[in-house]
Amino acid sequence: MSASLGLFRLQQVDSQLDRANLQLQKIRKTLENDLELKKALALVESAQGETQSAKRILKSAEAEVQAQKIKIEQTESSLYGGGVHNPKELQDLQKESASLKKHLGALEERELEALVKAEDAESALSAARSGLESIQSKLNGEHKALLDEQSKLIKDLERLSQERDASEKPIELNLLTIYKDLRQQKRGVAVTEFSESSCASCGATLTAALQQNAKSAKQLAHCPSCGRILYAS
Ligand SMILES: [Zn+2]
Repeated sequence: MSASLGLFRLQQVDSQLDRANLQLQKIRKTLENDLELKKALALVESAQGETQSAKRILKSAEAEVQAQKIKIEQTESSLYGGGVHNPKELQDLQKESASLKKHLGALEERELEALVKAEDAESALSAARSGLESIQSKLNGEHKALLDEQSKLIKDLERLSQERDASEKPIELNLLTIYKDLRQQKRGVAVTEFSESSCASCGATLTAALQQNAKSAKQLAHCPSCGRILYAS
């Protein structure tokens, strides 16, 4: 086995591990941060608050109208009940009845406004609720797909780390040290293939002698430009 073959195999497993770990991180982040869902929940909550307060206002407007109608009934029953004969008193009762009726008109207007506001708040709430439901059902599907992918990735990682152990075993310790250092320096890629006499990672041209060295069983050859270990496939 050439010195670079073992490292190349190790590199392949490490690259797969890197990709799987990155993907797993992304999935975890997505599952944790559901901005869309949080927004929809907040919207329902605020619509609920507004509906409750609009209903309270409507209820009190209705009660005021009711109380006013009772006052008018009482005044009119004194007025037309035949118990009052004094003209001054009758006149006062008439005036009072007229003024009560006028105020009733204002109260009924307020009641109508409150009713419209309560209805608007209710329809905003039901819109917010159906928005939340559709986001939840969409996320249920997406989350299921993400959770499936997550468990597949976790299994992949287990298998890959076993493969990694097996790939690492036959490699000499000093080569492993060089490999690990290069992987840290070169964004995870320490070993590179070359094709048509150029480095597959950086594109640098490789001399015939260097290409020959890369095939040697005994020593490692490095790309003169990026410094990665060259592997002749
Ligand atoms: Zn290179």
